[in-house]
Amino acid sequence: MKTILIIEDERDLAELVAFNLEQEGYRPIVALDGVAGLEAARTGSPDLILLDLMLPGMSGTELCRTLKGDKRTAALPVIVLTAKGEEIDRVVGFEIGADDYVVKPFSTRELLLRIKAVLRRAHPAEPAGKVIRVGPVAIDTERHLVTVDGAEVILTGTEFKLLLTLTERLGRMQSRELLLRDVWGYNYAGDTRTVDTHVTRLRTKLGEAGGMIKTVRGFGYKMETE
Ligand code: CA
Repeated sequence: MKTILIIEDERDLAELVAFNLEQEGYRPIVALDGVAGLEAARTGSPDLILLDLMLPGMSGTELCRTLKGDKRTAALPVIVLTAKGEEIDRVVGFEIGADDYVVKPFSTRELLLRIKAVLRRAHPAEPAGKVIRVGPVAIDTERHLVTVDGAEVILTGTEFKLLLTLTERLGRMQSRELLLRDVWGYNYAGDTRTVDTHVTRLRTKLGEAGGMIKTVRGFGYKMETE
């Protein structure tokens, strides 16, 4: 669960935002002035800060600069809440290192969209590897992830390599000896029946999609889409 620190001196607004964030599955923390906000940013381990600029005591601008200048909190994403027409504040919002800003009055929906976008940028998902698709089967070669119609299928290392080899040679017949050499390795002194055993298991795991692996009688196998 992501924790969001709301630093806002208008109590009603702070509580409304906190309520809405809670409804969306976030854990909100509220600080009603700059000094309490700085303290909460340092000790409350928030994932994101919503920061009002016009605050009593320590201003939002000063607070943001302090956070961004301190290596413990520099990476913390900050969304500035600014009053409508505060053009200077908009510029300042970026000059002081804020990640985004939302103009008051804002809708809950707008705020939530900004929060999601900023959190996504702060924690980008792992880059996807090269994905090979054959019919309903998708093979993510970098993450060693196989899905059939979007559902993950757990394969052993050998099954994965066998599937990948057959897929890369789509429509081409592969003899058992060739598969044994390329999947198990040159020096693997195994029986060609090893290939049959693994193909059978792989087909079972792939379910209906396993039917794409055709047996070429007396020879080997090939992958084929309908
Ligand atoms: Ca204010």
